[in-house]
This record gives sequence, C-alpha cells and structure tokens, in this order.
Amino acid sequence: MKLLFEKGNTGRKSSILPENDVPSVIPKCALRQKEMRLPGLSESEISRHYSSLAKRAHGVNDGFYPLGSCTMKYNPKINEETASLSGFTKIHPLQPENTVQGCLKLLYIAEKYLCEITGMDAMTMQPAAGAHGEFTGLLLIKAYHESRNDKKRDKIIVPDSAHGTNPASAAMAGFKVISIPSGKDGCVDIVKLKEVLGEDTAGLMLTNPNTLGLFDKNILEITKMVHEAGGLNYYDGANLNAVMGIVRPGDMGFDVIHINLHKTFSAPHGGGGPGSGPVGCKDFLKKFLPGKIVVKQEDDIYMLHKTEESIGDVKSFYGNFQVVVKALTYIIMLGKNGILETAENAVLNANYMRVKLSDCYDVAYDRTCMHEFVVTMKNMKKEHGVLALDIAKALLDYGVHPPTIYFPLIVHEALMIEPTETETKETLDEAICVFKDIYKKAEEAPEKVHEYPYNTVVRRPDEVLAATKPKLQYYMGSKNNTGKGVL
Ligand SMILES: *Cc1c(COP(=O)(O)O)cnc(C)c1O
Repeated sequence: MKLLFEKGNTGRKSSILPENDVPSVIPKCALRQKEMRLPGLSESEISRHYSSLAKRAHGVNDGFYPLGSCTMKYNPKINEETASLSGFTKIHPLQPENTVQGCLKLLYIAEKYLCEITGMDAMTMQPAAGAHGEFTGLLLIKAYHESRNDKKRDKIIVPDSAHGTNPASAAMAGFKVISIPSGKDGCVDIVKLKEVLGEDTAGLMLTNPNTLGLFDKNILEITKMVHEAGGLNYYDGANLNAVMGIVRPGDMGFDVIHINLHKTFSAPHGGGGPGSGPVGCKDFLKKFLPGKIVVKQEDDIYMLHKTEESIGDVKSFYGNFQVVVKALTYIIMLGKNGILETAENAVLNANYMRVKLSDCYDVAYDRTCMHEFVVTMKNMKKEHGVLALDIAKALLDYGVHPPTIYFPLIVHEALMIEPTETETKETLDEAICVFKDIYKKAEEAPEKVHEYPYNTVVRRPDEVLAATKPKLQYYMGSKNNTGKGVL
C-alpha cells in the first residue's frame, strides 16, 4: 500500500482558504525559507487512504476482540456525542475558572463517582494511562514516607502475577522491586510475603484480579500484613471491570489505586484514542496529589486548588479531559445497578467461555475466574508442536482478534482470554466454535496451523525486527525507503 507521501500530485490541495485580509505580522526572517514538502492530495484521496487503512485493521467495531487484560469492550457511541459538545471542546485550559464552571463541575462529579466506586477519598485525573497512574501512585507513597522522615522504606513488593507495568513503574519511581511467587492456587504466597515484609517495605502493589484472572482470596490478610509492617497498599485497578459495584478496593485496605478509564469505563484505546489513568487515594495522601483539584464552594462555585505538598504535575492541566467526559457519560448512563450488572456480565461471559473451552483447551488455573482466564498450550506444543502463537495467527483468518499471548509469564504458552461483557451469547458461541475448530486442526494437521494466517494482508511479520528496528521515518524520493533520500 502506498503512503500518503507517495500519492497525489504537486499543487493539489484539499482545502479552500479565503484570501488573507489581515496584515502579516510575522517578520520575514521567521518565515519558512523553503516550501514544506507536503503531499499534494485531494480530500477524496485522503479519505480513501484512511478508509483502506481501517479495513486492514481489526477493531472493536469489526468483531470479537478478546485481548486479555486490555478490556476491548464496545464503546457506546453516546460517549462520543457528549465528548464532542462544543462546551467541552472549544475551551482553553487557561480560561478563568468562572468561564468554565461546567467543565469543572464535570471533573468534580467524575471524581466523586469514581471515589464512590473505588472506595477512595480523592482522585486526580492527570495521569494519561494506567502505567502513568502507577508511577503517580508510587510517588504518593514515596512522598508519604518522606513526609514522616521514614527514609529506609525503599522496597516495593510485587507478586509475580502482577501486570508487567507494576515492577517497571516501581523501578521508575526509584524503588527496589521485590518479586514474590504465587502459590499453587494462583494467589499471593502468604508465607513468602511475610518473609519479605520489613522496615524497608514502602508498599505492596497488587494487581487484582491478577493476570491469571483470579481474585486473591487472602486480600484482607495481605493488606493487613503490609500495614502492620508500616507499608502502604497499592491496588492496580486497571481491570476494575470484574469487581466494580461489587467490592471496593478502599474497603479492602488499599491506600492508593489507579483505574483505566480507557478499559473499564469504555473510552476507546489502542489505536482508537488517548487514555486516562486516574489515581485515587485515601484522605491522608490527598495533600500529595498532583495537579489541581476541583473544589466546590458553598455557593456552588467550582474552583481549582493546588495543595502545598503536591508531588507536582505529572501531565499538563487536567489530563485527557475528553476521556473523562466519555467515562462520566458511561457511568451516568449505566447508573448504580448498571455498573454492577456490567461487572457481573464480564465475569459471567469469561466463565462461560472458560467452561466451554475446557473440553479441549487446558485452563491454567481451572477455577471460577473473574473477567478473564488463561489457557496453556504447553501440552499441545509438546505433542503436536503447535504454539500459542499459531493459535493466535489462526484466529485472524476467522475474523477473531487473538487473545493476549505469552502473558502472564508464569504460564507457559499462555493465551489470555477476556471476552468482556459487551459480547452476546451468540458471539461467544461462535468464537468458542472457532477456538475448538482450530484446536482440532492443530491436532490433525499441525503443519497447516503453522502457516496461518492465509488470508490477511500481512501474514507473519518479523516481530523482533519490527520492534527493534522500526521504520519510523520516510525518506522522500528514496527507493524502498532505504534512508538514501532526503528526510
Ligand atoms: C492495561 C493494564 C495496565 C497498564 O495500563 P496502560 O494504560 O496500558 O498503561 C496496568 N495494569 C493492568 C492490570 C492492566 O491491565
């Protein structure tokens, strides 16, 4: 497929601008000396270009997308409608507070609802993603210990069933990461936890449900142990889809949480849009929150407030504001019961698929799961040489987006399946048939399964090369973008 730079013709334009009727105030020396090399394209060429790109990708609007841990649920279109209202789009973050009262009220209500759902006392909308929220939350924990002059607490405990971003964020925030193994039941090994807790414990990061899709049954004991050792408890709530409306991390002994509005609260992500990873905390940590907090005065006027002990900004202004608009729309549309039903259906759908697939697939921890479950291709690999990767590639030919593969790391040849609550029983049944069909093929004709996909535009790209030497620049006039042309 040609790039936009390889299409069109010089001199062609897709916009008609009126004559400039104001004097130019830019001094000549500041003006561009040479014309910019932009492709000359008509509007129809641009429109077709992006449509054909979209056809080559698989999105939530195209079909089933059970990408574990990513919650690729359907995002209701009404979210887009509210987020594009001019009162939310045609504003500037530096406008005086009295001219943006509606937006401040929106942030205020969103904070209240998200605090209600998570059991926290305050929240910042600044972090732009889940991992960014983790980093922010850990800085709150750091600020807390420093404010008490408790300098030796430099270790964060992270179970091996945590999301991969957890240890990375802890290291980024300057902590030493202590990894502890999971027990046979897939939950935190309490004995090991006890061994590593001590006066140097800054806190524990718990992904719950963990990456095996399991709710840690010892959660109350775990948070109590960490508190008794003087540490704080961090809840990775990126996958709140499974528990919202049912239990609240704030009631289970957690002091800090991040949530992913772009997963649980139905804002598009991946190629679809920016994220938002609000961080909530208990009252005693509120003073450290980044950015400005919206406060409501007695006369119903909303003002911005920055605390003196704030850790500073982690992003400009109020984070990705439009994502908050989408999330709040979603929460209001669902209401209290809808939030609960959403979680129940996410769990029901995952368990339905788990049980149906366990006829042939090996479920890694075969017990009631939360919103997702993990199957292992370990035996399949041993017996037929078919890998998790082969199954994933085969699914593409059936119009199903593959599950997350080779994650979590503690399961060999893992396929992590998260159907989400927005799928119907019919869709799940079709997908189950597809999974089973591929399994049968893998047993009967493994050599054919190695060749999948047969029908996609790109079949099996060299993923290592793509990750280590991505071509991110385009050299004008060079053959095959070899770098011999002009940047
Ligand atoms: C997705 C996810 C994250 C990271 O969120 P990003 O927005 O991708 O940075 C962290 N923890 C868990 C459990 C997740 O599923």
